[in-house]
Amino acid sequence: MGRAFVYVILGGGVSAGYAALEFARRGGYSRGELCIISEEAVAPYERPALSKGYLLPEGAARLPGFHTCVGANDELLTPKWYKEQGIELILGTKVISADVRRKALVTAVGETISYKTLIIATGARALKLEEFGIQGSDAENICYLRNIHDADKLVNAMKSCSGGNAVVIGGGYIGMECAAALVTNKIRVTMVFPEKHCMARLFTPRIAEYYENYYTLKGVTFVKGTVLTSFEKDATGKVTAVILKDGKRLPADMVVVGIGIRANTSLFEGQLVVSMVNDGIKVNGQMQTSESSVYAVGDVAAFPIKLFDGDVRRLEHVDSARRTARHAVSAILEPAKTRDINYLPFFYSRVFTLSWQFYGDNVGEVVHFGEFTNSSPRFGAYWVNKGRITGAFLEGGSREEYEAISVAVGRKTKVTEMAELGKQGLAFAVQE
Ligand code: FAD
Repeated sequence: MGRAFVYVILGGGVSAGYAALEFARRGGYSRGELCIISEEAVAPYERPALSKGYLLPEGAARLPGFHTCVGANDELLTPKWYKEQGIELILGTKVISADVRRKALVTAVGETISYKTLIIATGARALKLEEFGIQGSDAENICYLRNIHDADKLVNAMKSCSGGNAVVIGGGYIGMECAAALVTNKIRVTMVFPEKHCMARLFTPRIAEYYENYYTLKGVTFVKGTVLTSFEKDATGKVTAVILKDGKRLPADMVVVGIGIRANTSLFEGQLVVSMVNDGIKVNGQMQTSESSVYAVGDVAAFPIKLFDGDVRRLEHVDSARRTARHAVSAILEPAKTRDINYLPFFYSRVFTLSWQFYGDNVGEVVHFGEFTNSSPRFGAYWVNKGRITGAFLEGGSREEYEAISVAVGRKTKVTEMAELGKQGLAFAVQE
């Protein structure tokens, strides 16, 4: 059995939704020529909502409220929308093999789906503790968070844990956002991670200190510089405690694990060029892979960043997923008119009443600025490399201020005096 499409989007996440919207806007297909194949049972949604609105104890976000592309203040693409647009949603369907020479995909139920042009939008998956030699993370009260299924499991675990203890493994943004959600759900939280401070890939020690102090005031305990080695479980298989490498035993009514992700590239191994550095499918500035009929977008794609002198990066951010998806569709439908992507990397997070944005690359010398206060925080940092701004972080900014720091990074604004930059702080970007 088999079906044939002109355009196939493989994956039904953030980038799939934004690619569909771009196709619909440009109208470059006829009814029945375009499909989305997704392992998930629901139409594409704004994944960041899963660690934010979805976990709130009251007034929680639920579908259809956060389907794409509402996260960018654009249309809400419900299943009805796809129907109206003549885009076929093939949901709950895992693709288990791909043959880019034959231009065919095979699903888990043995259906062959062929295409003329393929957009790979398979995103990434959460790394499992088993991959680090720790067994038993399939217990009913151990949660990961990548998809809505995981989020439902987490919500259920929180419901049966009120007033209890949670251990959060990992100090990245999933760990930080989940810890905040757990606290809001009246659960005591201990965070465990091997690094010296939270968000080690991005935060400076000073920025991390601010957030860790803030979390501590909310009742979160930090156990840093160590990792977990095993779980204690009861007769039903539920975790009751986490055992750490330094011998500590942390009682736990539930555990949340956020230890990183891996790009879903395996279907294309040996068929498409993979970026060695970033472990993603390598594409050019048109989001086109080493096979001209195949494009890759979102978390799975490693693409050249003009701002970083063409350095190839795989980004794990929602804004990048949205933009690369739209860019690929533009390149597919109007190749002559589509210039190579010129993307300014951008990442954000929101926890409790805090909210920050980061633009660019965190390399070079760091200059901090602003008010690191609890009542009305408004602080940040610039990264300066070879005399130019390469990255900027801001907590508590206004729309105009975030825009200003993004412009300073995008223009690689020249810095003559580091001390003066620190003194001027945000004004340096705003006055630009
Ligand atoms: P995904 O959205 O992961 O979609 C991939 C899709 O492909 C999924 O539907 C998956 O089921 C499907 N798929 C994979 N393999 C197959 C297969 N073989 N067959 C069929 N279907 C398949 N970024 C930010 O910038 N800020 C944030 O605050 C933020 N918060 C986040 C919070 C959470 C909880 C998570 C998980 C991510 C967050 N992100 C955030 C990251 C952001 O969501 C991702 O960068 C974005 O979702 C990537 O989009 P994508 O389309 O590439 O992949």
